[in-house]
Amino acid sequence: MKIYMMTDLEGVSGVVDWEVCDQDTHENHARRQLMRRLLTGEVNAAIEGLFAGGATEVVVNDGHGTGYTLDFEMIDPRVTVIHGTHRPFWLPELDESFAATVLIGAHARAGTPGGVLYHTQSTLVKRTTVNHLEIGEIGQQALIAGHYGVPMVLVTGDQAACAEAEALVPGIETVAVKRGLSRYAAVSLPPARARERIREGAQRALGRIAEIKPLRLAPPYVWRDELFHQAYEPGVEVAGDAVVHDRNVREFRADNIIDLVNKAFGYPR
Ligand SMILES: [Zn+2]
Repeated sequence: MKIYMMTDLEGVSGVVDWEVCDQDTHENHARRQLMRRLLTGEVNAAIEGLFAGGATEVVVNDGHGTGYTLDFEMIDPRVTVIHGTHRPFWLPELDESFAATVLIGAHARAGTPGGVLYHTQSTLVKRTTVNHLEIGEIGQQALIAGHYGVPMVLVTGDQAACAEAEALVPGIETVAVKRGLSRYAAVSLPPARARERIREGAQRALGRIAEIKPLRLAPPYVWRDELFHQAYEPGVEVAGDAVVHDRNVREFRADNIIDLVNKAFGYPR
């Protein structure tokens, strides 16, 4: 039983600030190293639970930022890891051979009240919909997996991310490791307890694969995103056939979800 694990940083317990990549101070270095360890600890806990739940193969996508946030030396030796930039696709290698997909360290979509570090791809995006369904990165992963008939069975992150996942995917297993007090404040579980809950949740999730349906919408697909600023030039550069409204909204169509996401994100790159 193959499982595809996506990972992100903002939903990890103990993380309440953006990763700062261009600040060359000892404090920032120490903070980034801590974030990497916290993430890798939660990822390893999930891996532990997945193997206990019957997984025979786990592929881990190092998904945050530049795609190299996991502490590679610490990672559970039973998995393989996808990392790095210039990917052929956002979720490379995900296909119908997987029994389920999971997301560790999830954050809520752009604009979610009480969502810790909420965003959708970047802080420039105000709102994204596919066929009028408002989605963030959780929904994107669920739809891509759904294209291959693969259910999303587990999301871990803050309480808002878990609620978002539950609304999109009925019956999905979730593990909340922190509760947002604002975009930059949370009540968090210490690592040992967060990891224990994630391990248990991952194991439970695999026991429930048959109950959870892949997320699918009816084709054709219309992607619409709205930015906070006027970035799009009418008729130029965005996704070929995109219609640009007001320079901060674009809208385009595709017959399948993979083509739609490739247009939206500009993959392969
Ligand atoms: Zn991230």
